[in-house]
Amino acid sequence: MKKLAAAVLALAAVPALAQLPAPLKNDVTTRVDGMYPWLDTVYKDLHAHPEIAFQEVRTAGKLAAEMRKLGFEVTEKVGKTGIVAVYKNGAGPTVLVRTELDALPMEEKTGLPYASRAKTVSDGRESFVAHSCGHDIHMASWLGAARALVELKSQWKGTLVFIGQPAEETLSGAKAMLDDGLFKRFPKPDYAFALHSSPVAYGTVGYNAGAITSNSDAIDIVFKGRGGHGSAPDKSVDPIAIAARFVVDVQTVVSREKDPKEFGVVTIGAIQGGTVGNIIPDSVQVRGTIRSYSPAVRAKLLDGVRRVALASAAMAGAPAPEVQLISGGAAVVNSEALVAKTEAVLKDAFGDANAQRVSPITASEDFSAYVGQGVPSMFFFTGVYDPKMVEEASREGGKPIAFNHSPFYAPVPEPSIKTAARAMSMAVLNVMGR
Ligand SMILES: [Zn+2]
Ligand SMILES: [Zn+2]
Repeated sequence: MKKLAAAVLALAAVPALAQLPAPLKNDVTTRVDGMYPWLDTVYKDLHAHPEIAFQEVRTAGKLAAEMRKLGFEVTEKVGKTGIVAVYKNGAGPTVLVRTELDALPMEEKTGLPYASRAKTVSDGRESFVAHSCGHDIHMASWLGAARALVELKSQWKGTLVFIGQPAEETLSGAKAMLDDGLFKRFPKPDYAFALHSSPVAYGTVGYNAGAITSNSDAIDIVFKGRGGHGSAPDKSVDPIAIAARFVVDVQTVVSREKDPKEFGVVTIGAIQGGTVGNIIPDSVQVRGTIRSYSPAVRAKLLDGVRRVALASAAMAGAPAPEVQLISGGAAVVNSEALVAKTEAVLKDAFGDANAQRVSPITASEDFSAYVGQGVPSMFFFTGVYDPKMVEEASREGGKPIAFNHSPFYAPVPEPSIKTAARAMSMAVLNVMGR
């Protein structure tokens, strides 16, 4: 009886939600604070030397060198310019942590002392390059988490697979790494984590279970007509009129066919056809994007776009158009169980007000490619701006905040990187064996 009572007491002492022991939690914070000067130097260097999709040679080399110094076994050129860094620390779960490596072909206009002036050739044209999506914040916090976990290796058991993924912005790097044997040549993860910087207050972490980013599909349609003189439309078939009808009518797929409670967007972003006013062209190209969260809405929108395109042409007695609907990437769907487990730790570490569930974003992410391989995953957001500035921006007439992909996007490095590194370290520690 006594023994049983002791066992019951011991059970009762275990909190309902597993949480990191307080000393371990404090240890992560102290270590991230202590290593910050290193992270700051790496961050500013990466920021000043950005590289676009599949050109991330210098970036990958730098991260590979730092990870080797930490004791990781590093393989380079996985999926062209990707890197895989493995750290084995006894029997336990294998956990993947992803950072992106790529920047954007655009000019930075922040005026920061470490702003990028780098240029490259993108799609055959010279272009500036800038880390305007915060992937440099992710790289610095990825390094920070790796170092904190190695320094605390006596506290956990398992295998870390830290990957530096190329070409996230073109939604092609995750596939390149998987096609190059990411889950065959290296241990397949039991869990995967990635974070993304978000234009909200630093010190905050946002997450949710289920779809957190959108499905993305590209529209590329060529409407065919029969060219002729602008004064004699009866002698031709006018693809401009067909395309114009399509652009308007396709919106009824969203407004009249889709469940209004569900998210779905169809945007036509480019129309090309014709040269001058008195010639009816032979063809018109229409390009756009389709976004959704659920597979059912995605299927409905794809079907609707195709149907309206064919009908618009049929109505004019034109040949059938060439309709290409190109899959850009699936929505990232977070594991309910992993989010619940991690949420407890994040709330404990950052406070209830600073660790919150957020709505999914309408952008897309190829982190979904790893999730699609059956890996329970969590993709979460960390803030990058001065909370006062964010608060002011939310007021009427307040100065708007620069979003990701803005030339003025300017995260505050120290609090942003520290929050992200701490959140990632704790999320990983929380699923590791003891
Ligand atoms: Zn981006
Ligand atoms: Zn991004």
